[in-house]
Amino acid sequence: MSAPATQAMDAPPLAAAYFDGVTSRRHAVTLTVEDGIACICGAVERQCPLATLRVSEASRHCARIVTFPDGAYLEVEDRDAFARLLDRTGHRGTLVARMQQSWRATLLAAAGLAVLLFLLWRFALPLLADMAAIAMPASVEQALGERVLQEMDRRILSQSTLSESDQHRIERQFAQLVMVAEDAPPYRLLFRKSRIGPNALALPSGQIVLTDELAQFLADDSEALMGVLAHELGHLQKRHLIRRIVHGAATGAAAMALFGDASAMLASVPALLLDLKYSRDAEMEADDFAAQLMRAAGRDPARLALALERLARDEESGFVYLSSHPATAERVARLKAQ
Ligand SMILES: [Zn+2]
Repeated sequence: MSAPATQAMDAPPLAAAYFDGVTSRRHAVTLTVEDGIACICGAVERQCPLATLRVSEASRHCARIVTFPDGAYLEVEDRDAFARLLDRTGHRGTLVARMQQSWRATLLAAAGLAVLLFLLWRFALPLLADMAAIAMPASVEQALGERVLQEMDRRILSQSTLSESDQHRIERQFAQLVMVAEDAPPYRLLFRKSRIGPNALALPSGQIVLTDELAQFLADDSEALMGVLAHELGHLQKRHLIRRIVHGAATGAAAMALFGDASAMLASVPALLLDLKYSRDAEMEADDFAAQLMRAAGRDPARLALALERLARDEESGFVYLSSHPATAERVARLKAQ
């Protein structure tokens, strides 16, 4: 009966110096490998599974170092004999496998981190932003709203050209509608001529900006206009804009903390003001509020759907309003079904 193959391939003893990893004392030993176990003989007697040893990279001038799990190590001067020993014991193969494993582990860790960051950004951040927005004092919301209005007045809005009687009529009609609501937030209508066309926007301060262009576009259908204003009141009631602003700032702050980039945060604020686009969910919530309010007042929520359809048909008029209040087709279908 022949010896096992591994034993047949075991290498002859190799001279080495053993260090205990604590003192600098050198112990003369020999190294042999039997059945995957490294055996140290001589001044120190010790055995250790090959798989638990770390072997230094081969280099032209240095002795090879074999490190034990406890920090003790061997110095092997005869590099060629040691390379042959590694070959015979198949250690080279396990080294390559170990490197691949560590690559895999690195990639896996990087992917895990990316997933974790995505989950934080997608779920934790909005939640925290919502909590921060809810906890925000009214005075801060007021100041923020004023700042947004100032910025818009400077860039895209100017004094309304609607007649006073038209403004009063719209104010009166809307006040009558809101009267029936139990949970309507405080609001104030502001009339502005706009450089960007028909739009309506609810600011965190409770101000609802109605552009002359939108009032004129829906001049022949005051119920449709009331529907649009009720939708804006819905954005106010759900505090969508303040949540968007806090979320944007939080994303920016998180990006800054992670990547050290303050510009992302600073860049997000003006872009948010001038290129506001509510999420589909925010639009649905505002529509639900408007529909409920209109029904409670004995009006037809479909008037809001008709306004949206008219805006969608008139590309030039609809462009601005529908780009900041998206998901039109879905909203129309939903409002009509209510
Ligand atoms: Zn909207």
